[in-house]
Amino acid sequence: MSYNSSSIIPTLQQYTKEIVSYTPRYPGYPGGIATQKMIARIFSQSENWNLEYDTFFETAPILGRLNFTNVIASYNGESKRSNSRNKKTLVIAAHYDSKYQKTPNAFQGATDSAVPCAMMLQMAAAFESMLDSYNNIPNYDLKFIFFDGEEAVKEWMARDTWRRCGKNKISTKDVQFPNFDIHRTITNSEGYKRYEQLENIEMKLKSQNSLKTTKRYFNGVTDNGQISDDHMHFSVRGVPVLHLISYPFPKVWHTPNDNYEALDWDSIHDIQTILIDFLRAHMFNK
Ligand SMILES: [Zn+2]
Repeated sequence: MSYNSSSIIPTLQQYTKEIVSYTPRYPGYPGGIATQKMIARIFSQSENWNLEYDTFFETAPILGRLNFTNVIASYNGESKRSNSRNKKTLVIAAHYDSKYQKTPNAFQGATDSAVPCAMMLQMAAAFESMLDSYNNIPNYDLKFIFFDGEEAVKEWMARDTWRRCGKNKISTKDVQFPNFDIHRTITNSEGYKRYEQLENIEMKLKSQNSLKTTKRYFNGVTDNGQISDDHMHFSVRGVPVLHLISYPFPKVWHTPNDNYEALDWDSIHDIQTILIDFLRAHMFNK
């Protein structure tokens, strides 16, 4: 995996185009499996990552019995620097499945959530470049989790039993981000602290002219945990969570217009730049 801060947008565009080309990305359907294979292909470029597949079957109202697979990429720490066993883990997560549509070909789920998955793939490469740049051992273990079936839970029926969270593999861990975009749900003091850190990083990068827009992304507004999403499974188990999501939802959300043409690459660049800087601070104190 390679990362270059000057090619953030072209790399994300390439990843996003590939992910939306697999729509509909329903659990167990060819598009969902192709997305899993893409994720595996990219993480396999490096020996730094162990891949696990958390697979299970559940029945959904429209599509029937589905084969769900959460894809978990864990930094193994072996090829670079060893991690201590009792460290906490930073989990960065988003869902890769796309919402069920009667006319699936019209819908790409570009913001929801092809772009966040593309961002996670690039963040993993950015983390590797940090390992090359800094000598210190990362402060946390690191996992990227690509959830399956978020749309099944949220949109088809309000049940959280359909999709497990790989919880046995995650245990007592730290902070996760399902769905990027900027509004956030914070259910704990750790989340507030981390959110303030994002605000500070945004201001710093703005003052360094490292961002492409003049928008304010992290603006201090919180909903105190009201938006239901993948993070709920962690919150109820007492895991500190920082959930980032745009609110109000984008105009194209859950419509056929949530496609590649709807994406604002300058904003995506800025958010990714902030999050990668956050990752650097969180993992390496740099
Ligand atoms: Zn959705």
